[in-house]
Amino acid sequence: MMLTDLTLAAARDGLRARRFSSVELTEAFLSAIAALNPTLNAFITVTAERARDQARAADAALAAGQGRALTGLPLAIKDLFCTQGVRTTAGSRILEHFIPPYESTVSANLLRDGAVFLGKTNLDEFAMGSSNMTSAFGAVTNPWTRRGDNAALVPGGSSGGSAAAVAARLALGATATDTGGSIRQPASFCGIAGIKPTYGRCSRWGIVAFASSLDQAGPVARSVEDCAILLGSMAGHDPRDSTSADRPVPDFAAACARGVKGLRIGVPRQYRADGMAPEIEALWQQGLGWLREQGAEIVDVSLPHSKYALATYYIVAPAEASSNLARYDGVRFSSRTEGDDLDALYENTRAAGFGPEVKRRVLIGTYVLSAGYYDAYYLRAQKIRALILKDFTDVFARVDALVTPTAPSAAFAQGEKMSDPVAMYLNDVFTVPANMSGIPGLSVPAGLDARGLPLGLQVLGRPFDEETVFAVGAALERAAGFAALPAMRAGA
Ligand code: GLN
Repeated sequence: MMLTDLTLAAARDGLRARRFSSVELTEAFLSAIAALNPTLNAFITVTAERARDQARAADAALAAGQGRALTGLPLAIKDLFCTQGVRTTAGSRILEHFIPPYESTVSANLLRDGAVFLGKTNLDEFAMGSSNMTSAFGAVTNPWTRRGDNAALVPGGSSGGSAAAVAARLALGATATDTGGSIRQPASFCGIAGIKPTYGRCSRWGIVAFASSLDQAGPVARSVEDCAILLGSMAGHDPRDSTSADRPVPDFAAACARGVKGLRIGVPRQYRADGMAPEIEALWQQGLGWLREQGAEIVDVSLPHSKYALATYYIVAPAEASSNLARYDGVRFSSRTEGDDLDALYENTRAAGFGPEVKRRVLIGTYVLSAGYYDAYYLRAQKIRALILKDFTDVFARVDALVTPTAPSAAFAQGEKMSDPVAMYLNDVFTVPANMSGIPGLSVPAGLDARGLPLGLQVLGRPFDEETVFAVGAALERAAGFAALPAMRAGA
């Protein structure tokens, strides 16, 4: 077995047993990146020398018996997390030369626990998208291809670089963020696991903001347990983020072994989308069958307001984005395009620095927040948001978790859906309700479609009950025994 094929848990155990060193492990990933990144474009920036320094320090710590939870384990960081001294672009031309003077709390937590950072992964510009096609640094290619067809597919978005890197074995795991589905949908498209924890579980400090009331950080990795290990390091209270929850971080990895005996699993009837692939419906039923066999009770439930979640999201998210993105004015950050006066400087900078999807969101957001339309759109959207949360609160009084498909389709081809923003937005129909309500959601690879592409199942849970979500996700993972491999991966 190649070192790059190890799960994060197995690599950790191998390092502790001194079967190999962090330097060897890190070199294996750096070679894999050198071989495959020119094709996949999963990394915007590779920090090879820094990674080697961190690996050497990790080996010294391990030799001295000072290993921590992640000592010596090579990870990738979504290029939305500020990394001190390392360029952070958010996938945008406007931040092309931005070198943060500080480290995000989440990445700092990973460094505190001994992780090695391989580099910064590609994403849709400012995390706006479901395909990774909107990055100013080029599209990311999904390491999976359809059987008998070499067409380049999207890895999903916005954390497409992180998901492609983990699936292709260019990193053991990666950080990601999820505002409407950007951890779970790319995990589903790339055949890996990913969790958006409860809003407030991870600090948003030092993460480039998209929509502040929805944004949440989380991990992607090749197993549910690996996600649990990573989240255990990433999570925790941070006084620098006023929405960060002051709660203890449980042992998420231990929860993966709990099993589902006696749990009540809800099946929301509104999650049957028109035109959903029949394999997705079949996989969903199969997943419920696996849980029933392991002792769970399956219960039909109703989330009557979830049909409004996507429309409401596309008011709230652009509104907050238009406000957050006002700071990119050419004065304080990175790229600037000069003009004759201050207004021209702003206009020229923003016209040159933002791509079309970001401009569309700023326009929509400014419109729905404008004096004449605020009550009709933004205020009403906030009221519906409260109803979406109430649906979940009611349902979680009766069931312990919900299981649904993660996305209405498998990965699609690069360029598809680009001329139809509404078709693109439909990718998030199953993931967005968790952001609107703040609840945790995990995607687990559970099967393949007719053309050999991975499909994920989503587990939703009560706020701050990621442990049950991990228990259900790990039970699905054990039953699915998902062992298919992408065509493009290290050593293939
Ligand atoms: N696809 C959604 C959007 O474009 C979600 C993105 C995200 O979660 N960051 O807004």
